[in-house]
Amino acid sequence: AGAAASSLGSTELSASWFERAKRSLAGGISSSSRLTSTGPDPYPLYMRSGSGARIRDVDGNEYLDYLLSYGSAVLGHAPPELTGELTKVLATGTMFGTCNVPEVELAERIQEMVPCAELVRFANSGSEAVQGAIRTARGVTGRSRVLKFEGHYHGWTDTLAISNRPAPEETGPHDAPHSVPHSPGIPTGVVADVVVCPWNDPESLRAVFAAHPAEFAAAICEPIVANNACTMPDPGFLDLLRDLCTAHGTALVFDEVCTGFRTGPGGAQTLFGVRPDLAVFSKALGGGLPIAAFAGVRELMEPLATGYVKHGGTYNSSPLCATAASLTLARLADPAVTGRIEATGQRIMEAIRRAAKDHGVPCAVQGVGAMFQVVFTPDGTPTRAYRDTFRLDRHRYDAFRHHLLLQGVHTNAYGLACWFVSSAVTPDELDRTCEAIDVAFAGLA
Ligand code: PLP
Repeated sequence: AGAAASSLGSTELSASWFERAKRSLAGGISSSSRLTSTGPDPYPLYMRSGSGARIRDVDGNEYLDYLLSYGSAVLGHAPPELTGELTKVLATGTMFGTCNVPEVELAERIQEMVPCAELVRFANSGSEAVQGAIRTARGVTGRSRVLKFEGHYHGWTDTLAISNRPAPEETGPHDAPHSVPHSPGIPTGVVADVVVCPWNDPESLRAVFAAHPAEFAAAICEPIVANNACTMPDPGFLDLLRDLCTAHGTALVFDEVCTGFRTGPGGAQTLFGVRPDLAVFSKALGGGLPIAAFAGVRELMEPLATGYVKHGGTYNSSPLCATAASLTLARLADPAVTGRIEATGQRIMEAIRRAAKDHGVPCAVQGVGAMFQVVFTPDGTPTRAYRDTFRLDRHRYDAFRHHLLLQGVHTNAYGLACWFVSSAVTPDELDRTCEAIDVAFAGLA
């Protein structure tokens, strides 16, 4: 691959912060995924500030940001719609550990926007809210088993950190995948309660329900698989899952941590016209502040209301985070805003397709405008399920991402994750992104 001219200056301050961090933080990092968020050199970039679609590192390099805190900064960084109001909340008390007005207003907004949200509960992270939804489904049904899909990610807790990224030799038969714990430390009993199915495979889905009739408390999926290169559901697959869940008394849970409020005001359940029983939200919900929610139909959420099923959390829906979320949703409830995000992303997807064609590099661009990924398959076909990703040229993705970074475009370092687009991208920034993509493909050719 040819070397593209770089607009990136020195990153030596990031290097020295990483050396210092390793003396106090385990591995120098606060989340396992950050180890891979490296720049062109083998250390993470330390970001100091962000404004709109741009972030700036400690060395003063500026980047157009499509990592966006994994999709959280949906209105861009430090959006003026939020900062003024949040400053006021900072001055009047951020957290009381009591009931508060912003949480009620926020729950009402979610009820209005999300089809399945008859009742809502808040949490602080996607992992916690997934735990809340699964606890609720198990508590209500009295069942322990849960069905999940290979390659889908639902957070780092024991509950579901299973078969999100198993190595090829661990996966087992295609139609009956092994349940593979993501880390040592996950108890075998927990793993045994999670049954794994391939995505987009109707036959295997029917078979797994037939093999475990009326046995699953919940079936959970990422409706667009943000954590598996933005794989889309095949037409009819979500409907089939809906029907099988209904037939077996299983709660259908959509993990909308990435899709929620980003793919349109009603998230993926509106986009695909399939109503789950429970759904989980985070990321775009908070507009950059840590908040999450799970929501669902009254029948399932009522046992939380009575206290039969327990859910807690000191920090849940603090006035600071609930206010940020309400202000964010006030913007995202406007289809013009999510429409602009979608159109911006579609233009970037198109730029990737065009550059790939011009420079003769086989790849597919998959997902929707608001969240998408490029996959370097040998024949340029999209991936439909996790095992298709074994065919990907991961080195090519790394080189692509590296070339983009040199042009000042910051994307997810992990090739099976995706690009996230904010509403803050200006026409000029969009043009610059598309130019950088062309340069990056020239570097790959
Ligand atoms: N679910 C999905 C689809 C996610 O992408 C993530 C995080 O990336 C989670 C759950 C877990 O969320 P958190 O990292 O906030 O715990």
